[in-house]
Amino acid sequence: MPPTKTNRRGGGSREQNPATLCVHAGAHPDPLTGAVMAPVYFTSTYAQEAPGKHKGYEYSRTKNPTRDRLEQALAALEGAKEAAAFASGLAAEDAVFRLLRPGDHIVVCRDLYGGTFRLMRRVWENYGLKFQFVDTTNTKTALAAITPKTRMLWIETPSNPLLSITDIAAVTEGAKKRVPNILVCVDNTFATPILQKPLKHGADIVIHSTTKYIGGHSDIIGGAVMTARPEISQEIRFLQNAAGAVPGPMDCFLVLRGIKTLALRMNKHCANAAAVAQCLSRHNNVRRVDYPGLPAHPNHLIANKQMSGFGGMVSFDIQGDARRAQRFFAALKLITVGESLGGVESLACYPWVMTHASIPEEQRRKAGVTETLIRLSVGIEDPDDLIEDLEQALRASR
Ligand code: PLP
Repeated sequence: MPPTKTNRRGGGSREQNPATLCVHAGAHPDPLTGAVMAPVYFTSTYAQEAPGKHKGYEYSRTKNPTRDRLEQALAALEGAKEAAAFASGLAAEDAVFRLLRPGDHIVVCRDLYGGTFRLMRRVWENYGLKFQFVDTTNTKTALAAITPKTRMLWIETPSNPLLSITDIAAVTEGAKKRVPNILVCVDNTFATPILQKPLKHGADIVIHSTTKYIGGHSDIIGGAVMTARPEISQEIRFLQNAAGAVPGPMDCFLVLRGIKTLALRMNKHCANAAAVAQCLSRHNNVRRVDYPGLPAHPNHLIANKQMSGFGGMVSFDIQGDARRAQRFFAALKLITVGESLGGVESLACYPWVMTHASIPEEQRRKAGVTETLIRLSVGIEDPDDLIEDLEQALRASR
């Protein structure tokens, strides 16, 4: 059985369970034809009866009916008032940074996706934002970094690639006590709204790379920003149109289709990842396994508190050196070596030279991203086949 907890409903008003929301959120028969699946509106513009007299759609950068459906589904899943879809996860993050102003200080978790680090350091620092990377898995350390100039706290939990866990409720509460108008933004890509709802823990903004589990089939690039605060939502909407990094209608449709099976897939990802993590943690050729579902994980109890399942990502440190890691990758037969994650197929990634290469070597090492770290996106195949492949590759790596 997957290590998921029983789903709890919010008190009072009847809230649909995630599996139901996945199938039905944003899905209503097309008023024109009754089509059950969302029509894909391939159009850039819309006829107006008279100048300014239209049906709510003027131009597809601003609004497109297929994108509307996706945004409704995403907002419902995350428990947000509104969601804005973007052309990639990084485009979604970029829109969030545009809420800030030169001189603003941002406290960021130390372990995070390399592309996010690059966007912060190589792009936004040129425009006066000041990022400080700290170990947010330690609430005291995170809060000690917050000053009156801190405008945002950026958390990725579970983090990429070390699956470290930050206590969202504790850091949010502490941060808001220090700076009441601070914005807390959580990258919820690894957990998905099925396993973790940061807005319920007090966060202001959630971002996703929908490229990953939400899309689920490794066939699109997309992102989203969700918030329960109308004034932030209004600003993000403005930026979505003004800067224009929007997804096309076909990509929106594919993400919508992916969402239908998100709850089902996450259950299987969790079960398979737990089996893989257990197998690796018993293996002689493995030094350490990072999986929040393992009781030995340093923040297992916090993960258990804020997540309803531990996700499909497992990282591990292989015994030996970089050559051994390279031999492991070369020996894999079923699991594909590749970037990205969250698709139905299992992928193995070498963060040192792939997803995290854009982080300076010293900082990578400091965060624990070394030449022997291997990250697995555990897919929905039969777990016995995955374990057999991992065991033979570990044998071949010796
Ligand atoms: N956030 C996390 C945790 C990621 O892993 C990634 C990409 O790997 C992103 C954001 C960026 O998303 P995208 O590749 O869709 O731009």
